Amino acid sequence: MVDLKGKTAAVTGSTSGIGLAIARTMAKAGANIVINGMGDPVAIEKERAGIETDFGVKCAYSPADMTKPAEIAEFIALGEKTFGSVDILVNNAGIQFVAPIEEFPIEKWDAIIAINLSAAFHAIRAVVPGMKKRQWGRIISTASAHSLVASPFKSAYVSAKHAIAGLTKTVALEVATSKITCNCVSPGYVWTPLVEHQIPETMKARNMTKEQVINDVLLDAQPTKEFVTSEQVAALMLYLCSDDAAQITGTNLSIDGGWTAE
Ligand code: NAD
Repeated sequence: MVDLKGKTAAVTGSTSGIGLAIARTMAKAGANIVINGMGDPVAIEKERAGIETDFGVKCAYSPADMTKPAEIAEFIALGEKTFGSVDILVNNAGIQFVAPIEEFPIEKWDAIIAINLSAAFHAIRAVVPGMKKRQWGRIISTASAHSLVASPFKSAYVSAKHAIAGLTKTVALEVATSKITCNCVSPGYVWTPLVEHQIPETMKARNMTKEQVINDVLLDAQPTKEFVTSEQVAALMLYLCSDDAAQITGTNLSIDGGWTAE
């Protein structure tokens, strides 16, 4: 069992989907948590309080907008001020938009690059000094099968996710002698609001029904014909936080039902 007692994990985009599962999994292992993300304040407070009561740890909420560098720095500072350190950073916040390149809205490109890529740069930049001082750290980003392969109509997302894999390798080399590892995890399709919301856009872009999108586009990519679960992604990230994983760094770990084996 991985024991994270005395450690703090800050997880971006953890009010929903995969991020919430990561936050709860790290809390179950004993870490104090900083959650972050958008949504209904009442629902977010329920999730925050639930993490404390379910797992007996402390949990703070940061409303930092991942498009704003100063707020991202405040997100890391909140964890350091409240709990004394941020030992584990998970760059997970992400959005998606599906459209042909010639119709792709410029503001959607800018938002996806900001949230899915630049936010990780800003958070890593802010968290590394403390990790170096303490000589321990785990930096993990939620990349995607789309960090390794492309799909049509996802130009911004695929570009951002490929770049996350490059950022991961670079940072891993820079912090290698400070007992800090930096990795990314690349899920295939996980049934979360992010996937649910892209179905209408994909129906439009490909002229398909909802069932066709699920079976012929989403699950078609995955040889197992099953969605990955948020809990499976979180369990892999928890392993990366263990001492057994101390020599795993600079990698891009697939958890995609065989998608990228094809
Ligand atoms: P989700 O929509 O359920 O969660 C996204 C989270 O990011 C939410 O908490 C949301 O509030 C937060 N967020 C969005 N914009 C933000 C902003 N400007 N500032 C702060 N937080 C913001 O989606 P998910 O499927 O859980 O996705 C999480 C990560 O997993 C993303 O990086 C996504 O690209 C990646 N991913 C998802 C899948 C999948 O199939 N669902 C597959 C591979 C990778």
